[in-house]
Amino acid sequence: MNEFSYIFLFFLVTSMLLTLWLNKRQMTHIMLHRDKVPDDFKGKIDLTAHQKAADYTIAKTKMANLHTILGSAILVMLTLGGIINVILDVSQAYIYNDIWGGVALIIFVFIASHLIELPLSAYQTFNIEQKFGFNRTTVGQFIKDQFLQLTLMFAIGIPLLYALLWVMGEMGDYWWTYAWLLTITFTFFMTWLVPTFIAPLFNKFTPLEDDALKSRITQLFERCGFNSKGIYVMDGSKRSGHGNAYFTGIGNNKRIVFFDTLIESLNTDEVEAVLAHELGHFKCKHITKQMIVSTFITLIGFALLGWLKQQNWFFDGLGMLQINNAVALLLFILVTPVFTTFLQPISSHFQRKFEFEADAFASTMAKPEHLIQALVKLYRENASTLTPDPLYSSFHHSHPPAGVRINHLKALANKAS
Ligand SMILES: [Zn+2]
Repeated sequence: MNEFSYIFLFFLVTSMLLTLWLNKRQMTHIMLHRDKVPDDFKGKIDLTAHQKAADYTIAKTKMANLHTILGSAILVMLTLGGIINVILDVSQAYIYNDIWGGVALIIFVFIASHLIELPLSAYQTFNIEQKFGFNRTTVGQFIKDQFLQLTLMFAIGIPLLYALLWVMGEMGDYWWTYAWLLTITFTFFMTWLVPTFIAPLFNKFTPLEDDALKSRITQLFERCGFNSKGIYVMDGSKRSGHGNAYFTGIGNNKRIVFFDTLIESLNTDEVEAVLAHELGHFKCKHITKQMIVSTFITLIGFALLGWLKQQNWFFDGLGMLQINNAVALLLFILVTPVFTTFLQPISSHFQRKFEFEADAFASTMAKPEHLIQALVKLYRENASTLTPDPLYSSFHHSHPPAGVRINHLKALANKAS
């Protein structure tokens, strides 16, 4: 232990308390508004649906509390509790190659933490989601998903970790610039790979077949000057009743994906409006901007790691008995979030700005009224709360609160007419 141990513990406890306090605020705020549908949604969402959303959000927030406490406990056990030292000793007794030993250490820590948290995600799926009528996952499917995730973690994680640890050991003082290039290349490759090769391992993607809808969409694409390999419908209903739409991929692999649950509940006008919103993200270059920012943040991260790797106090302060590249990398991944919780509102702020911009774009390409209708349906069917605590929301929500977003769209509709 040294001064850094106390700084670490101070930030860990503060960020945990901050998260728990925000969760508490969120639950209180929702309970306070549970018995009245907000005026903007009167006649569109009934009291039963509003109360279901309140109860569902509160149940999920309680789970989030458990996750936060468990996550902090695991982190202390791994570091100051000495678990990483133990794993390292064991791995060094069997694996003589430094790089492979390092890969084993990091993979083991991730798998162990994942397994410890597994009961919570099982409870979330089979108790909470079940109770509110969203779960469609069977136990068999759940286990199959776990194995698939584990296999992917091995198949993708091991080569990447090996390469990173090799770079850390072999590339001299400026190893972190090479590590950064490697990570960025890897990220781009994955962004390209995921929609076509990895996502289909979990779900079935079929090109949109509805002819009437398709011609509307083709016209929309022409208006927006957008080319893509297509629009796909994903069998999200295989696991859950929640509906969504998203934009994915880069270059010639970019595509728009609708959950089958969403397509079923929205009419043609509403699908067109949601699609126009997704195209807005593309047209306003949000994906490119996000990539540039994360590229830059990754560079700062690696530069910081390059410096920390040479500071004994960093390792001592976190209870390490040995100093090596794998330990440095692992600690950095585990400990950074403790210090960055406080920055969450900044990234949420920019994500919301993007949402407003995409809505503004959508309003020029489709009718804002249709987007409002679609959003109301989405809030209702996903049991999303209409009355989040503003402060909680500024930390956790990438999308503006329901009321704010709808009012923004109404203003756009008035401007258009
Ligand atoms: Zn969006």
